[in-house]
Amino acid sequence: MDRVYNFSPGPSMMPLPALETAAKELCSYGTTGVSVMEMSHRSKMYTEIFDETAALVRQLMAVPENYEILFLQGGATGQFAAVPMNLMGGAGKADYIDSGSFAHGAMVEARKYGQARCVASSREDNYTHVPETKREDFDPEADYVHITTNNTIYGTRYIELPDTGDVPLVADMSSNILSQEMDVSRFGVIYAGAQKNIGPAGFALVIVRKDLLGRELPITPKFISWKAQAEAGSMLNTPPTYAIYMAGLCLKWLRDLGGVAEIEKINKEKAALLYDYLDESKLFKPTAQKKYRSLMNVTFITGDADKDAAFVKQATAQGLINLKGHRSVGGMRASIYNAMPMEGVKKLVDFMKQFELQNG
Ligand SMILES: *Cc1c(COP(=O)(O)O)cnc(C)c1O
Repeated sequence: MDRVYNFSPGPSMMPLPALETAAKELCSYGTTGVSVMEMSHRSKMYTEIFDETAALVRQLMAVPENYEILFLQGGATGQFAAVPMNLMGGAGKADYIDSGSFAHGAMVEARKYGQARCVASSREDNYTHVPETKREDFDPEADYVHITTNNTIYGTRYIELPDTGDVPLVADMSSNILSQEMDVSRFGVIYAGAQKNIGPAGFALVIVRKDLLGRELPITPKFISWKAQAEAGSMLNTPPTYAIYMAGLCLKWLRDLGGVAEIEKINKEKAALLYDYLDESKLFKPTAQKKYRSLMNVTFITGDADKDAAFVKQATAQGLINLKGHRSVGGMRASIYNAMPMEGVKKLVDFMKQFELQNG
């Protein structure tokens, strides 16, 4: 069976070379005679794999030395709770920007642990844009400000980061981490579920500035504590060893391709191909406001639910799968993360043109 172009929002397409290496190494890693899945997480063999994966994250994102890199279970949703638990030990309050469903979910979760104030929201506009803020909007005494850098469901992203003054900026970067250059030093904490742009599902990558460790609430379970996990090298208990190994293979692919600066160029070309066509199409309409368009998730509709359904069905038959939009937006969503090749986007646009000719 040939591989198809998978536009799934997550878990999503992975680089083929990474999958092929994994297949080759599945039953015996190198000359070890054991699968990575069968290794003790404390063995020398596995420690090398783990350390190399963390080093690749540091190299690719140019993470400064004063930040810890953690691989933690529970995905991004786990971090919705971990963020307030680890940071609200100061004032017990935080500011949230509500730019999408996940941003909203993070804010609601935080309210279990302290005051999470909504500073700005685009909810009333069905999140078609990212709300703008000024420095004065933020509480200077807040323990942190939380944002979502890319809104996976709505296809929007931050073009410029908010100015939060001295208040640490915490970012859920699940759907655009490693897709464009980011200055890590602008953030107190970055976290991301792995299954979009890092590797398979199974962990959240957490990058935390060291001076922010130890600001946790007394109730924080040890397993949720970034400080305790940093001290234990992310191994307070057994980490998702195989997912971390697979992520390492994906990161090597990205490094060999030229790193984040190079993939950013490619990502911009891929997104431009789709948006340029959407802007001229008489059938398909993009749903996100132009200024905030995501490079990773491209959302569009025809305005006719039957046509949308026919499009998704026919695209699937062409080997262009998982294009159905999230129910809160409807229509279609093409998730074009790092591993989606330009060829896949070209094939999608060609198919859209053909569909427009027949259904316009
Ligand atoms: C997918 C996603 C999540 C949820 O990730 P899980 O790892 O499934 O918990 C959270 N935030 C954003 C921005 C996402 O895209």
